[in-house]
Amino acid sequence: MGTGRPLGPAYAACRLGRMKLRAVKGTADRLPADHPRWNRVIEVAGRVLERAGIQPIATPVFEFAEVFERSVGEAADLVVQKEMYTFDDRGGRRLTLRPEFTAGVLRAYVEHGMHTWPSPVKLWSHGPAFRAENVQRGRFRQFHQVNLEIVGTGAPVADAEAIALFADVLRELGLRGVRVALGSVGDPADRARYNAYLRDALAPVAQDLSETSRERLRLNPMRVLDAKDARDQALVAPLKRPFDFLNPEARAHFDAVAACLDAWGVAYDVDPGIVRGLDYYRRTAFEIHAEGIGAQSALGGGGRYDGLVSQLGGPDVPGIGWALGMERVLDALEQAGVAAPVPDGPTLYLVPMDDEAVMEAAGLARDLRAHLRVEHGYARRAPGKGLRDADRAGARYAGLLGARERAAGVVQLKHLASGQETQVAWGDLLRTIERDTLADAVPGTGEPPRAG
Ligand code: AMP
Repeated sequence: MGTGRPLGPAYAACRLGRMKLRAVKGTADRLPADHPRWNRVIEVAGRVLERAGIQPIATPVFEFAEVFERSVGEAADLVVQKEMYTFDDRGGRRLTLRPEFTAGVLRAYVEHGMHTWPSPVKLWSHGPAFRAENVQRGRFRQFHQVNLEIVGTGAPVADAEAIALFADVLRELGLRGVRVALGSVGDPADRARYNAYLRDALAPVAQDLSETSRERLRLNPMRVLDAKDARDQALVAPLKRPFDFLNPEARAHFDAVAACLDAWGVAYDVDPGIVRGLDYYRRTAFEIHAEGIGAQSALGGGGRYDGLVSQLGGPDVPGIGWALGMERVLDALEQAGVAAPVPDGPTLYLVPMDDEAVMEAAGLARDLRAHLRVEHGYARRAPGKGLRDADRAGARYAGLLGARERAAGVVQLKHLASGQETQVAWGDLLRTIERDTLADAVPGTGEPPRAG
């Protein structure tokens, strides 16, 4: 080993076998039962976005640290930099686990010369992101995002479309009562004027601010507005907001975005104080909040980032994007009582009733899987227990295989909901199941359907 670094107490205890192995704090396993809800969010997001001509992209989970360092900017938010998981690999490369998607997607945009593609280039992606955060409800160290970027247009209609698509995804998922908070952080000169104003306004009370806010006041004053500390909040409450400093063009841009949303019936509240965690935003900034999921109520957010592509070594093209927090959306869906999709069971569950039937069942399952979802038992089972196994697996049909069935070349096929059963030759099994006639029996009576 020998990284030269002292081991943390948790890791040391683990190596000595004193501690039960468990997932790292702030990370979580996604168990089989979690997948239907999870997949539905990605499937719905993909459907809504691809209907709007947005194409999928997947970028690596880690990048050269510089990709993120350049995008957050040097003067920027040291908080984000401190939150990054950056490490040296064996080749001495400094790498960072992505804390967000935009920088990596734009790195790919530049690397693949996407500015020569039909413009705008509209991309969506999803996957894990990593930040060394203080873990709490809705705030993890590995979390997951669905991400959208529209690169190559500065038209306000693109901002409105991006926001409306976020709302569409949530609506299609069945989430109601979300709040879109829309603001503008202006152009760089507006931000500079606002930051200067904040420095002046807060200078007399700087010693009363929290340490985080004092650091922000020094490096990126606007971010003081995001303070969680109640005293900080009280101190900034009477001050002007970035929105009060917009130049006429930035203001017109905001009004045009708002007019689109009005025309499309996408509800929003104007939030004059909205600022984003990352420093590269220009003009449009927005967040989407849900009630009932605790203090971390932002389901996602985004904004315009004109200038970022050139900061990453590409041409000077504008862009807008957003990120949706998967864990928060799932939490909000649960709080809102939106039913999770019920996972399908197999169409057929084969029960081997003697040892010889174990291999037969497995082989028959393999054949039928070209057409159906089929599972089977891995050991001899008494019929009653086997039927219970089939039921627990959520199967539609159970097929029992034993000595008698083998001799006759049949399977005892039972439709579990109706209780209807019949003997079916191996060769007829697929056709019988596909016709699904046993399902038409009156539930519970075991009576076959009457002819005519
Ligand atoms: P951001 O890139 O900070 O604007 O984050 C976009 C969205 O990702 C947020 O609104 C959250 O829904 C989600 N998110 C950000 N950080 C975390 C985290 N540490 N844990 C869980 N979700 C997060």
